[in-house]
Amino acid sequence: MLTGALLAVIALAGLITIARLSTDSVGDQTPTGQQTPLTDTVPAVQLPGTAAPAQANPAPMEDPLLSAGTVTRQDCQLPAWSDNPNYVKVFVLVALGCLNNAWQPVLTGLHVPFEPAQVELTGDVTTMDCGRPPERNSFYCDGTIFLVPESYLGTSAGPASIPAAAVSMLAHEYGHHLQHLAGTLAESTTRITAAGRRSAAGLELARRVELQAQCLSGMFMGAAFDPPSIELARQDNFLRGDSAGADPDHGTPQNFGTWFMTGVTRNVLQECDTWTASPEAVR
Ligand SMILES: [Zn+2]
Repeated sequence: MLTGALLAVIALAGLITIARLSTDSVGDQTPTGQQTPLTDTVPAVQLPGTAAPAQANPAPMEDPLLSAGTVTRQDCQLPAWSDNPNYVKVFVLVALGCLNNAWQPVLTGLHVPFEPAQVELTGDVTTMDCGRPPERNSFYCDGTIFLVPESYLGTSAGPASIPAAAVSMLAHEYGHHLQHLAGTLAESTTRITAAGRRSAAGLELARRVELQAQCLSGMFMGAAFDPPSIELARQDNFLRGDSAGADPDHGTPQNFGTWFMTGVTRNVLQECDTWTASPEAVR
């Protein structure tokens, strides 16, 4: 019989890319149908003197990420996937290290001050730090990624996609961290609040934020993993996005997957310009 400690050693010694991970995790959670509500701590204030009717041509988003920057090709070696929460925590922390390593030089090259993101892996999100009620979806808040297992264990792409879903979701939330560092997360939250969070203009801007995060996720995934891993992530991402009846704030599954794959295949920041993309591309 192997002890738990010995199993841990074996798991960590067996460093392989997520493509080769099979998983015996239970996949009996129902798909969430959507993920990752945009969350950032921005006070709900309006600009002085503006009752702010929705503008036909709002000011362009000043985004230092819109550049020729690319993520350098690298191998992100992750420990074996397990449904043991302690192993998953190691898995996620190693993946986060890959993300920090991948993006730090890109931001430095853009003269955007870099700070690593933190991650909390929890199925019991009760934080009110962002003024939100407890969530069952993963989300980003002010430097910290809250990764909720239910949101990747329930992938509609099937159990084999769970590790890839977890990593691409982490990379999506990291995309919000990059937006946070770039200043566009706070700016877009201000604009969404001014337009009305559930207004057509507010929802469209929310989708532009989310879909840029999808593209940034794809840039990392494409640079860090092998094609079989990316294929599993692709399948998962085309099954996320807005579910029927929900506020359309993440994009259709088609657009959600398409922007992810734009990042994978192009790996250039300016190709992730969802701010000026056509309304159809951010539906
Ligand atoms: Zn998001």
